[in-house]
Amino acid sequence: MDAAVTLLDQLIAEGLLVPTGVDGLYGRSGVFEDVIARFEALVTRTGGGDGAEVLRFPPAMTRTQLETSGYMKSFPQLAGTVHSFCGGDHEHFDLLAKLDEGESWTEHQAPTDIALTPAACYPLYPMVASQGPVSADGRLFDVQSYCFRHEPSADPARMQLFRMREYVRCGTAEQVQAFRQGWIERAEAMIASLELPFEVVPANDPFFGRAGKMMKVSQREQGLKLEMVIPVANAQPTACLSFNYHQDHFAHTWGLRLAEGGPAHTGCVGFGLERIALALFRHHGLAPAQWPETVRRVLWG
Ligand code: AMP
Ligand code: ZN
Repeated sequence: MDAAVTLLDQLIAEGLLVPTGVDGLYGRSGVFEDVIARFEALVTRTGGGDGAEVLRFPPAMTRTQLETSGYMKSFPQLAGTVHSFCGGDHEHFDLLAKLDEGESWTEHQAPTDIALTPAACYPLYPMVASQGPVSADGRLFDVQSYCFRHEPSADPARMQLFRMREYVRCGTAEQVQAFRQGWIERAEAMIASLELPFEVVPANDPFFGRAGKMMKVSQREQGLKLEMVIPVANAQPTACLSFNYHQDHFAHTWGLRLAEGGPAHTGCVGFGLERIALALFRHHGLAPAQWPETVRRVLWG
């Protein structure tokens, strides 16, 4: 039997996820949301003392920012852009006729200035760059957003709209590397306290096409992306947290500078909130009230 479909069926039967008819697009129950809220509170208890600047963007960025970020070069297959009807009466008449006939009606939809956020940290870099060079202490941010990726799948852990909580560091190479190492150790302690099995492994982003193959190899060879994988719904464990070191990539993209001169380095730690909730349901059962007392104490105090 397909284990991924089985877990999804169970989550739906229990009412934890509400199907919509589109793979990867679900409603969430109050119980599911409470698990996410409690896990986020644990993240805040762990990282909240570091003095991060808290920022929340809506799940969208400007289309220009998405273009400048290079996302369409690396991940065109995942991007989502928002289109709206921009015609007049004639086009509206045509649209309604097509809808009536059950025909494709989207030809009058035109791109707006808005694109969906692919990762919670994406809207941050242009903002930081616009605020001028980064001082000697660097900067630290706490962001969270719904993110869109066009990767429809029957695997409940691969959603098209999901939330990512991130801490993002901006500063010297040493500052960013120390931040990443520190978060790997904290994340290991956090996930162990939730009594979930995990492993931290080298990883790569899904760069598109033939040119993307080299990017994947080079990212792995340089150890720029690590993931914490936890068994969720598949035979293969699923990446639930990511630890990324971008080097000075976003400095070149956005003009991020250090006050003392030179490009700023960046890195981020990303918590896949739905995936972590799903891992908890998979390992401890579909009823949080019956989870081990030790796990409940960590999340609900
Ligand atoms: P990434 O930028 O790909 O490293 O994603 C950051 C984190 O978001 C990952 O570690 C996952 O936990 C989570 N994530 C990525 N893609 C998805 C998805 N399609 N559905 C749910 N969570 C995801
Ligand atoms: Zn990030």
